[in-house]
Amino acid sequence: MIDLHAHTLASDGSDRPDELVAAAATAGVEVLAVTDHDTVEAVAATRAAGERLGVEVLAGCELTATVGDRVVHVLLYGEGLLEPDLAGAVGVARRGRDERNRAIGERLERLTGIGYDDAAAVAGDCVLSRAHFARALVARGAVAEVAEAFDRYLSSGRPAYVPAPSVSVTDAVALAAKAGGVAVLAHPGRLAAAERDRVVAQALEAGVDGVEVWHSQHDADLRRSLDALVARHGLLATGGSDYHGRHKPDVRVGTGTGGNVTVPGEHLAALRDRLASAGPGCVGSALAERPNEAKGVIYR
Ligand code: AMP
Ligand code: MN
Ligand code: MN
Ligand code: MN
Repeated sequence: MIDLHAHTLASDGSDRPDELVAAAATAGVEVLAVTDHDTVEAVAATRAAGERLGVEVLAGCELTATVGDRVVHVLLYGEGLLEPDLAGAVGVARRGRDERNRAIGERLERLTGIGYDDAAAVAGDCVLSRAHFARALVARGAVAEVAEAFDRYLSSGRPAYVPAPSVSVTDAVALAAKAGGVAVLAHPGRLAAAERDRVVAQALEAGVDGVEVWHSQHDADLRRSLDALVARHGLLATGGSDYHGRHKPDVRVGTGTGGNVTVPGEHLAALRDRLASAGPGCVGSALAERPNEAKGVIYR
């Protein structure tokens, strides 16, 4: 059993690395990639736990990226991501997230008297998001419910809204290449159906190495059409549950939702071949040529 997409407390999962690995081992997972949002912070601890429990742990992360005017998620896999300079580049969107949250907090405080600290208190150990600002507004009686908080203040176009930080898919691809790794477009099934084909085509044009075919939110029809698409383009096909622990209780590590994540071993073999054949720094030097590029992309 293979699961190439899972989160820990380092982003918005509920599990510590050892808890994630214990859940994976219990489910029968043999190969697990830890793919926290915009960080590789939990990889080492997850791997250490994996060594104790007999689960192989691959290094990964899930970058928040933009292609055209749309936000997509890009999974990066590769040992080179753990190199300090690349781990730092992976964290760009995350560091931008704190700036963004502070900007939202300032706006909201001017509007309602409820700000960053209130939302941070609601978030506790979780990665702060607009959902926590919304819950803080509800808790303090500024709005009746979360939906109203988004409608009045937090949704795009409303007065406390600040766009989420991201990197371009092109930069995500360059970062993966610099790490000797690969970039995979995550869960196309979460894109609006009307624009899915266009956004996927743009991501392929930007040079992603593969597409996530098996995912908790992909039905059989979508899996079939994505499988055909990657075969047509000679790309990697990956899959994973997108496990978030108790924050997404329907999603099981290793198997997804109702057993819809079943990654064939041949695809893992193809991924391993790609990771083995590209030594760190051997391909794609776009970021090396533009070392400060990643610093400037926060609100793109
Ligand atoms: P962020 O990543 O900070 O942009 O916040 C995203 C969070 O806000 C996610 O948990 C979403 O489910 C939640 N969210 C976004 N829009 C809405 C909405 N209109 N109503 C309720 N929750 C929302
Ligand atoms: Mn998440
Ligand atoms: Mn995602
Ligand atoms: Mn994810």
